[in-house]
Amino acid sequence: MIGSPDTFNCLDHEETVNLMIKYAEVDPFSIYWMRDPMAFSWPFPTHLMSHSTLASLLSSDCFYGTLNQRVSLITTTLRDICQLNSDYSKIIRLLCTRYEAIRNLDNEYTNLDPILLDDIIGEWCWNEVNDEQSKESEQKIEQILRLTKDLHRINYRGQTPLERILAYASNGKTQTITLITKWLVLVAKSGIDYREYVRQELKRHPDGYMAHTCCRSIKLTVILEDAENGLHVDVENIRCSRYGSLDPVFLCEAWRSRSRRLGSVSTCLSLVDEGLIFDGRPLPNAPGSWEATIKPNSELALKNKKWIDWQYEKLSPTGTNWAPGPEFG
Ligand SMILES: [Zn+2]
Repeated sequence: MIGSPDTFNCLDHEETVNLMIKYAEVDPFSIYWMRDPMAFSWPFPTHLMSHSTLASLLSSDCFYGTLNQRVSLITTTLRDICQLNSDYSKIIRLLCTRYEAIRNLDNEYTNLDPILLDDIIGEWCWNEVNDEQSKESEQKIEQILRLTKDLHRINYRGQTPLERILAYASNGKTQTITLITKWLVLVAKSGIDYREYVRQELKRHPDGYMAHTCCRSIKLTVILEDAENGLHVDVENIRCSRYGSLDPVFLCEAWRSRSRRLGSVSTCLSLVDEGLIFDGRPLPNAPGSWEATIKPNSELALKNKKWIDWQYEKLSPTGTNWAPGPEFG
């Protein structure tokens, strides 16, 4: 169904969607399992949705989509939509406006529902750090900042956009500082007073601005100097003191995390029940559903996973491990 952009541009996309709904009884707001049961997908190729199709889907009362499903369709389409689409800017505006209208209804909204800006920020961080084209995600962010109140909303982890960027596993301290500086430039470009924005953010953490991720805390210091001296940003990534008794080879490192899934060889020891730990190290033979003994970082592979972070994982069958770069602290 998901053809090349050229193939789909030749078809009347709106008519195709209508036929699928009418004759194939496809529910436009349901997520479908495609070939890969581990991946889920919307029934339509959202990167090629036309403005009129989206407008009719999102405004229609004929479908049974809940508010959450409608927001999920909006976030998926906004993430997937690309400049190949002739309605690109118009669609982004439509999605942001609809999203904000739904958010204003709010009573059905929960902390677990998706945040439009949060979704795009992961992609933007990845593009910035990996030297990939970040222009499109920047354009989307600028529109989201202008048309929604997302700048001050928190995601399911309780993080504002700034905390999310601070917690993002870039390659190291320098890149995290660069990301935050670029983020503030982007905020300013959207017509927001970035100094006032930083002041408001800092108020969230009167005892020091911190983002937490697993067993680590990432501390941000921002000094807003006068216009001549500019602003000064510093970042510190430290292990939480309460895990000081655990052997650090089984814990996350600065900007390199272990799995948060219990029962894996790469699970972070900070998440493991005390009964399965002896002398700061995992018991060699843990009872229950553990697939194998927990391994130290040196025996795992390090992977840079798009939109997530650097993570330690089980070594591939070929057994090759990743060699860390020069900056790793
Ligand atoms: Zn950890």
